[in-house]
Amino acid sequence: MATEARVQSRIATDIDFDRDGRQATYLRAPLSRNTAGWGTIEIPIIVVKNGSGPTVLLTGGVHGDEYEGQIAISRLSRELDPGAVRGRVIMIPTVNIPAALNDTRLSPIDDRDLNRCFPGNPRGTFSEMLAHFLDAIVLPQADVSVDVHTAGHSFDAALSTNMHHLTDAALRGRTLAAAGAFGAPYNVVFSSVDEGATFTSSVERRGILSIGTEVGGWGRVSVEGVRIAERGIRNILKHFGVIEGTPETAQRDGTPATRHMMVRDQSYFTFAPANALFEPCHYAGDDVEADALAGFLHFIEDVDRAPLEVRYRRSGVLWMAAGPGRVRRGDAIAVVMTDYVEA
Ligand SMILES: [Zn+2]
Repeated sequence: MATEARVQSRIATDIDFDRDGRQATYLRAPLSRNTAGWGTIEIPIIVVKNGSGPTVLLTGGVHGDEYEGQIAISRLSRELDPGAVRGRVIMIPTVNIPAALNDTRLSPIDDRDLNRCFPGNPRGTFSEMLAHFLDAIVLPQADVSVDVHTAGHSFDAALSTNMHHLTDAALRGRTLAAAGAFGAPYNVVFSSVDEGATFTSSVERRGILSIGTEVGGWGRVSVEGVRIAERGIRNILKHFGVIEGTPETAQRDGTPATRHMMVRDQSYFTFAPANALFEPCHYAGDDVEADALAGFLHFIEDVDRAPLEVRYRRSGVLWMAAGPGRVRRGDAIAVVMTDYVEA
């Protein structure tokens, strides 16, 4: 802690991470503008600590157009009673507040995806500076990280937690157990496109237990996504003994627990072969078959041109279903998951 506190960041905070009680304040990130040379961006942060115990870090709004985590974590931050806590909960409900207020995935300040900027750079762009603060100042204090995402405007997602294929068997087992305690309908062990610069990868590099989520998507607030997110973050606090109680994991359809799934590699992705209007054939959560029709790409600007058929490459359950109607060549339009088996 003493060493980490000396890490240089341009972001200021008056939080005392070691103090008992509830602190609700802002991270103050510098942003010089034409009309405000000493302008700053204020990012809400709430820390609730009581005695000794594990530290759980809860982050939302890393992408600005993903709403369920912002709602669930800010609600918890208002309701969490310090007297009921054993340990510490660090809550940043809307990490990427410039993007959240702009309702976009990317930051309007530097046009970067914060979740592709880790481990960041204290002297870099706004997003790189923010990524560095999270990696170098916040993460060393955490034992567990839950980063609440949805599929934003990219996809509609089957409600799920997720984690990477971890080579450390002990950490893999602890992470699977924690994801099961979170209690989303699915937990997906996956590898994706360009994972090295994500927050999850930063968390893992520090040996911290990391859980991500996909609890909604496609530009709206999912009723069930908010419920799963709120219950899930409280379940995590219960699982690690930070608050009293037993995690509730029963699903809406009567299933008693989370179904563990995996996406082994990019062969489970379907990418659009052309710029077009995509008509999908299935909803997220549907069972799909390899070589079955995923949808049609329509070229409505051409008279009489037949649509292009797009097919799934693997059988399984549709984790990510296309969000936007108009897609570009090379965009992922479907991701299929299968039941988890230890490698
Ligand atoms: Zn996201």
